[in-house]
Amino acid sequence: MYDGDIASVLISEEQINQRTAELAEILAKRYPPSTDGDPDSDLLLIGVLKGAMMFMTDLARALPIPTQMEFMAVSSYGSSTSSSGVVRILKDLDRDIADRNVLIVEDIIDSGLTLSWLMRNLASRNPRSLEVCTLLRKPDAVRADLEVANVGFDIPNEFVVGYGLDFAERYRDLPYIGLLDPKVYSS
Ligand code: 5GP
Ligand code: MG
Ligand code: MG
Repeated sequence: MYDGDIASVLISEEQINQRTAELAEILAKRYPPSTDGDPDSDLLLIGVLKGAMMFMTDLARALPIPTQMEFMAVSSYGSSTSSSGVVRILKDLDRDIADRNVLIVEDIIDSGLTLSWLMRNLASRNPRSLEVCTLLRKPDAVRADLEVANVGFDIPNEFVVGYGLDFAERYRDLPYIGLLDPKVYSS
């Protein structure tokens, strides 16, 4: 599939599965299941479309606690390769998150501008708690001064695709994270 487009595999399917299981174990301790029987006590995962969809569904299945799932779609103004921090909501949540334990599930944090905006937006809706779990983090993210408790992998400052991440809407369906061959974006 995508013959010759992927220069190398950065993170294999096995590595993703193993790390997801580790994160699930950590998160299950952080969010012990409630015993009050109230559905609103379940952890609410908020996936950021479309990049986080694969990680979100695998993480939800790996978590040994009840979770509910919501999705948001946002677009950040700016060039296709860097974001400006000006964000527009393309699809908002279907439900109120007031007093809920919310975990934002992200694919990747690069500049962190998108996520800082999202954190501020969601915090204004008064959740009980608000944290982030991202599969990938790039080096520039340290400058964003974001509290990200849960990170799958710290990766080098290179453009990656696969496992939800796209280039021109392609490669999301790859089961691993790979580096795109430069010939793909220069052609
Ligand atoms: P930030 O606001 O943190 O700079 O941008 C985060 C968003 O930029 C991600 O959700 C993703 O859509 C996109 N992005 C950043 N780095 C990469 C990358 O290496 N590959 C892909 N496919 N998207 C990226
Ligand atoms: Mg994202
Ligand atoms: Mg994209």
